[in-house]
Amino acid sequence: MGSTDDDLSRIPSAAGLPGRPGLPGRPFDVPRKKRVFVNRNLRMDQIELVGFDMDYTLAIYIQAEMERLSIELTLKKLVEGRGYSREILGLPYPPELAIRGLMVDRAEGNVFKMDRHGHVGRVLHGLRALTREERSTLYRRQRVRLAEPRYAWIDTLFALPEAVIYLRLVDWLGKGGAPVDTDRLWSDVRASIDEAHRDDSLKSVIKAELARFVVVDPDLPATLHKLRSSGKRLFVLTNSLWDYTDAIMRFLLDGKLPAYASWRSYFDIVIVGGKKPAFFTDAAPFVELDAQTGAPLAEPVTALHRGRVYEGGNLVSFEELSGTRGDRVLYVGDHIYGDIVRAKRSSVWRTCMVVQELEPELATAERLAPKLRELEELDRKRRNLDAEIDYQNLVLKSLQRMAEEAGAGPADLAKRRAKAGLDDLRAALRDATERHEQLEDEIDFAFNAHWGPTLKEGNEKSRFGEQVEDYACLYTSRVSNLLAYSPLRYFRAPRDKMPHEL
Ligand code: IMP
Ligand code: MG
Repeated sequence: MGSTDDDLSRIPSAAGLPGRPGLPGRPFDVPRKKRVFVNRNLRMDQIELVGFDMDYTLAIYIQAEMERLSIELTLKKLVEGRGYSREILGLPYPPELAIRGLMVDRAEGNVFKMDRHGHVGRVLHGLRALTREERSTLYRRQRVRLAEPRYAWIDTLFALPEAVIYLRLVDWLGKGGAPVDTDRLWSDVRASIDEAHRDDSLKSVIKAELARFVVVDPDLPATLHKLRSSGKRLFVLTNSLWDYTDAIMRFLLDGKLPAYASWRSYFDIVIVGGKKPAFFTDAAPFVELDAQTGAPLAEPVTALHRGRVYEGGNLVSFEELSGTRGDRVLYVGDHIYGDIVRAKRSSVWRTCMVVQELEPELATAERLAPKLRELEELDRKRRNLDAEIDYQNLVLKSLQRMAEEAGAGPADLAKRRAKAGLDDLRAALRDATERHEQLEDEIDFAFNAHWGPTLKEGNEKSRFGEQVEDYACLYTSRVSNLLAYSPLRYFRAPRDKMPHEL
């Protein structure tokens, strides 16, 4: 589905007012890559509490730097802690080997992309793309059961380096046909990167060089301020722990707007170490932390106060203690499972997903607009040619029958003509199909050399795209895109049309 405000651009401007300095910009002035897209109607005037995840939501990371660091630390752990050869440190690890939404098949050493029907599209084994036959043998003869431990999901931007390292090492370890324990390799990579997140090796480097890793979005303070000015309360709910959260949030928000003494003044409730997705399903208690030392306080938490810091907690207590009905909460996050799917399945919270990839991918789509139009035209042409060939086949069959009944004669001549006509149509279909394939390859390559666009797979939505559509009420490339919209806006989804509808 996915909505735009395109339709607004056809509405005549009201009283010639828009565009004047001092007046707010109209939503259709918002460039496409900065828009908020709507899957499900959402009336912002009904929202009382807006919550934010931190990592990759309020804090945008410089992905190339994050990946470089995650890869470096993970490889170090593989070499020093798990006996991998030092040679792996010198291999290239191209970031384009992974995008969000891919699945890892630990049994086969493959990484693949699925469409919304669960159909496996492209597959890499190490650095090699599987052929159509190989894919079909492995994944088309029976249903792929993603819930099995054999499969792992690359569902956040934090996880991209895992897939890159895995593919690179499946390739390198299997050189010359050597057998590779691909299941064990995945466990080792996963455990190493997990350790890098938990033992502070990653976070100590980020904290020491924040500007190298974190984007300071100049519009973020004004965006939060605008939401607050309309009477909404804001909260942070992050899985990061207190010291790291405090360091990142200071960097993003401290000293930016005079009305806010520190980053904590923007938020009415601050929850760290939230352990999402368990936050939405389990019953962990809230624990108050001493904001100076980060030490837990002994008093049981009976209210969530502004200016204080809490750790842990759960959905049920949150709604009780914040005194807000679930459907009055909008939660903004980037993790399709931990933030969006889980929130949607376990609560009635409304959701907005931050899909950072939209910004570059919409720019690519704009650049490729003529090719995308040609592709659509070719789709139509192929459908028409298919129908015409079917029809001419029937005609030919009838003529054949007539010729058999009447012997050689006029029907025979007509039959030969029909045959020649059919050959022409088939040649046109072949040409159109060839051009279609070539165009599709060029377009996919422009998005990502191995995987194509994040939210699409061939003609279909990718599985990831489908999940964004199913679970996120809104989606956009960054939090500050909300600044261009009224905090009372009625975000309306476009009419969701089935193929039969006019
Ligand atoms: P959030 O997005 O603000 O909820 O926080 C994400 C947190 O999860 C960050 O502190 C990350 O360092 C952490 N994280 C991401 N991947 C892993 C992992 O594989 N193991 C442990 N922590 C992780
Ligand atoms: Mg996050």
